[in-house]
Amino acid sequence: KVQVSLPERTRIVTVSNQKGGVGKTTTAVNLAAALASVGARVLVIDLDPQGNASTALGVPHSADIPSVYDVLIDEFPLEDVIQPSPESQNLFCAPSTIHLAGAEIELVSQVAREHRLRGALEGYLDTVAVPPHFVIIDCPPSLGLLTINAFAAADEVLIPIQCEYYALEGLSQLLGSVRMIQKHLNPALHVSTILLTMYDGRTRLAQQVAEEVRTHFSDEVLETVIPRSVRVSEAPSFGQTVIAYDGQSAGAVAYREAAVEIMARGVHAAAGKEGEA
Ligand code: ADP
Ligand code: MG
Repeated sequence: KVQVSLPERTRIVTVSNQKGGVGKTTTAVNLAAALASVGARVLVIDLDPQGNASTALGVPHSADIPSVYDVLIDEFPLEDVIQPSPESQNLFCAPSTIHLAGAEIELVSQVAREHRLRGALEGYLDTVAVPPHFVIIDCPPSLGLLTINAFAAADEVLIPIQCEYYALEGLSQLLGSVRMIQKHLNPALHVSTILLTMYDGRTRLAQQVAEEVRTHFSDEVLETVIPRSVRVSEAPSFGQTVIAYDGQSAGAVAYREAAVEIMARGVHAAAGKEGEA
């Protein structure tokens, strides 16, 4: 049985990458379930209008269900939209609905449009009886206002990188956005974690990409890599994470290892950085 120490303060982690299909949603839900499986209370906020994270967590998110849309646009309290995931008593989700597709546009004309999620989350964390140990935010594949809301609300950015061609393409744009948010909206924001996903160790390409990422981001990259695994891709169609769907599979084992590593590293990933006492 693994020894983990739960964080004293809620860690707010946004899973972001403006590229689609790199494993953001897969990482958000499986990491959340893995953290929950080792005893952490975890809230997933689904900020992608596609609602794939809500689906994978087994949480209803049809158009009539109160969702993150109502929180961002109509200032619903976050706790009014949060649902338990049937998978674990430690796991919760603020679902996305199709309405969120319009939020990007609707937010443009709203007051404090970048801080809607932050305000809602602060209100929630200040009043809830038992705050979660982790809040994991699943972002859409763009650097629009939804992602900016996530950046303004979070302390940590987790970037999943797919071990394929052009893995690093677009990364400088993402890092530039994080710096801009740091400067203007949220000084606490930092890239704490990079996770290599869909790794196929049999190919030279995957090995080369992994090496290159580790060279550039030695402090941020987790030791753990997530292997390409059919079980991981099958799980969402059963409304489950891979942790519940096949807990012994290579993908489930890897996400649990990643969760333990993230807990052990604390908020500040890199050695020598502040907080590394
Ligand atoms: P994003 O949220 O960045 O768009 P997803 O998490 O939806 O990316 O992943 C894109 C596709 O890749 C999905 O079909 C997902 O099932 C699949 N996938 C993600 N991670 C893995 C993995 N480790 N092994 C196999 N398939 C994966
Ligand atoms: Mg996604």
